[in-house]
Amino acid sequence: MSCQILKIALDTPLDTAFDYRWVNPSDTEDLPKVGQFALVPFGRREVIGLILSVHTSTDVPADKLRDVIAVRSQLSPLSAAWIELCRFAAEYYQRPVGEVVIPSCPKNLRVIKPTALDKALKKIAAMAPATSLSAASPLELNTEQQQVVEALSAETGFKTSLLFGVTGSGKTEVYLQSADRILRRSIQTGEPAQILIMVPEINLTPQLETNIRNRFPDLHIATMHSQLAEGERMQQWLAAHSGKASIVLGTRLSVLASMPYLKLIVVDEEHDPSYKQQDGLRYSARDLAVWRARQLDIPIVLGSATPSVESWQHAATGRYRKLALTHRAAINASLPAVGLIDMERNKAPDGLSAPLIAAIKLRLEKGEQSLLFLNRRGYAPVINCDACGWISNCRRCTAFMVLHKPERRLRCHHCSAETRIPSACPTCGNVDLQPLGRGTQKIEETLQQLFPAARILRIDADSTRKKGSAQIAFDSVHRGDVDILLGTQMVAKGHDFQRLTLVGVINPDTALFSQDYRAGERLFAQLMQVAGRAGRAAKKAEGNASEVLIQTRYPAHPLYRALLQHDYPGFAETTLKERRDAGLPPFIFQALLRAEARELQKALDFLELARHLLADDSITLNDPVPMNIVRVAGVERAQLLIECASRAQLQAFLKPWVESLRKMKSRIRWSLEVDPVDI
Ligand code: ADP
Ligand code: ZN
Ligand code: ZN
Repeated sequence: MSCQILKIALDTPLDTAFDYRWVNPSDTEDLPKVGQFALVPFGRREVIGLILSVHTSTDVPADKLRDVIAVRSQLSPLSAAWIELCRFAAEYYQRPVGEVVIPSCPKNLRVIKPTALDKALKKIAAMAPATSLSAASPLELNTEQQQVVEALSAETGFKTSLLFGVTGSGKTEVYLQSADRILRRSIQTGEPAQILIMVPEINLTPQLETNIRNRFPDLHIATMHSQLAEGERMQQWLAAHSGKASIVLGTRLSVLASMPYLKLIVVDEEHDPSYKQQDGLRYSARDLAVWRARQLDIPIVLGSATPSVESWQHAATGRYRKLALTHRAAINASLPAVGLIDMERNKAPDGLSAPLIAAIKLRLEKGEQSLLFLNRRGYAPVINCDACGWISNCRRCTAFMVLHKPERRLRCHHCSAETRIPSACPTCGNVDLQPLGRGTQKIEETLQQLFPAARILRIDADSTRKKGSAQIAFDSVHRGDVDILLGTQMVAKGHDFQRLTLVGVINPDTALFSQDYRAGERLFAQLMQVAGRAGRAAKKAEGNASEVLIQTRYPAHPLYRALLQHDYPGFAETTLKERRDAGLPPFIFQALLRAEARELQKALDFLELARHLLADDSITLNDPVPMNIVRVAGVERAQLLIECASRAQLQAFLKPWVESLRKMKSRIRWSLEVDPVDI
C-alpha cells in the first residue's frame, strides 16, 4: 500500500492549498501527478481541486487529514508552467491561487461524475492531428507588411513587439502569415506548435474567425469566449490542452488557456479596455500575456492603431520593439479625411447638424453606406418636468433612469431597475414631461423622419438582446441591406464594411471633461477606431472620398486636432507628458481598495481603518473617498487609492496588507484592484 500527501488548490477564498492523503491499496494505480485534477471532500461537499504538489509527509494531524476520492487520471496533467502562470496571477493580483486555477478551467471538468469528460476526451482522441498546411491563397504582402513579418519571424525567443498599424493597414494578414510560418515549420520538423490569438470580443468581429478558418482549412482552431455553452467550452479547452488545436482564438480569458506547445501570442487591439477583467481576479489579460510569453521565452505581438500609452511608453524606452504599418493595405485605399462640425455654429435640435445630414444624403444618392456613432443607448438619458423640476432619478442609484421609447420604459443602466414611463409628473401632475438629451433611439427616429426611404439599422445593447441577433444585424450590413447604420461602440470594432464611406460622430464631447484621467485616451482610441470603418475598400475610379465628420462644441481641442491629422504618436506623447507631470500611470503604480456598505460612512470608516493597518514610507495611501457613482442598487461605495513609484515596492506592501485586511474579518464587502483602470 502506498500513500502520498497531495497539496490541492480549491476554489475557496482561503489563500492556501489543502493537504489530502492519497492511498493506493493495491499498488495498481499510477501515482498522482502535479497538475492533475482530483475529487476531494471539502466540508460536507465533494469538490474538484488541482494537485499543486506531491509530498510524503504533512503537518496536518492524521485524524484531520482526509482522503482523496479520485484522481482524474484520464486527463493529461496541466503543465508546471501553466501552474506557475496561475500562481503569478494570483500573487500579483492578490487573490487566492485556487480562485485562479479552478475557475479558469471549464465547469464540466469540475463536476463530480467524469462522464462528460470521458465523452469529450473520446472526441478529442478522434481528431486527426494536422499533417499538412494548405494555406488558402495568402494575400501578397506589401513592403511594410513584409518587413514586419520578417522581423517577427526572426525571433523565436521572448520579445514583445508593438505592432502600430493604422486602421486597415492589414494587421490581420501579418498575424496570419506569421502564424503560417511557425505552423509550417512545425509540420516540417514534427515539433508541435500552437498559437494564441487574443481579441477583445469575438462576437463583434466574426470576420477574423472566418478568415483564420478559411486560411488554415487543415488545422483545428479552438475558440474561447464567455458566451460558449459549457459543453462546447470544455471541448474547445480540451482541444487546446491536448495540443490538437493549432490556433486558439479567444477573448481575455484565453490568456489562461492550457496550451502546452505555445509558440506565439498575438494580442489584437491591445489597448482595448475589455482585456481588463472587472470582477473576481481583476487581471489585465494583455499584461499576463506578456508575462506568459517571457516565461515561455516566446515572441508576443501587441497590435493596435491606437496603442495604450503604457505600451507606447514601453516602446519609447526600448522595452518593446516598435513595428509600424503606416498606410492602408488595400489597393488605392487611403485613410478617410476627418472633419469637425462646430456645434456652436451649427444648431442641431434633433441631434444631427445640416452638414452631417447633407453628407448622409450624398451617400444615399450614391448607394454608399453611412455609419453614425453615438455612445449612448436609449432614447434620452433622462426625462424631467419643467413645471416643478422633477427629474427621473433611479431610487436605488445615483443615476438617472433612461428613457427607452420603443419599449415604453424607464430603465436604470446601473441596476437594471425598470418602470413604465409616467404619464404625468409624479410630484406635480404635469402631463408634459420632457426628454433631455439624446440616445441612439432618438437619432434613429430623427433619421427615419429625414430619410423615410432609407434602410436604417440601429445596433446597440438594446437592439441585440437576443442571442445571435448582433451577428444577424452585422451580416445585413455586410450584405449591403443597410444604408445607414447607427450604434454605440458595438459598431466601432474591427468590422470591414466594404461600402461604407461616411462616419458621423455625434456628441463625443462629454469624455473631454471626465474625472477619469484615462477618458481622453479611450475617446481618442474609440474615434480612431470608428473613423477607421470608413473607406476601407479601394476607391472607385472617379475618386469617391470617404470622410469622417465629428460634431463637437470644442473644435480647437488638442484631442480633435490630433485626430484630424491621424496623429496617434502626437496624441500619445502629449498624453504621456501630462501623465508624467501629474504623477499618473505609467509613471507611478496604483492599486485601489473598494468597499461597499448600506451606509456610506461605514464603507469610509472601513477604508480609514485599512489605511492605518500598515505603514510604509514608499507608499501613499490617499484619503478614502466616495466613488463617482456612489450608490448602485442601494449599496454605497467608497474607495482608497494606493500609489507608489515602484511596482516591486507596491507589490511588497500589498501582500501583507491584504493579509491583514482578510484577518480583520470585517462584514464590509471589499475588493482590491491592482493597476486599476476605472478610478
Ligand atoms: P487592420 O486589422 O490593420 O485594421 P485588416 O487586416 O482588416 O486591417 O485589413 C484591411 C483590409 O486590407 C482587408 O480588407 C484586407 O483584406 C486588406 N489587405 C490586407 N493586406 C493586404 C495586401 N497585402 N494586399 C491587398 N489587400 C490587403
Ligand atoms: Zn412636476
Ligand atoms: Zn439604478
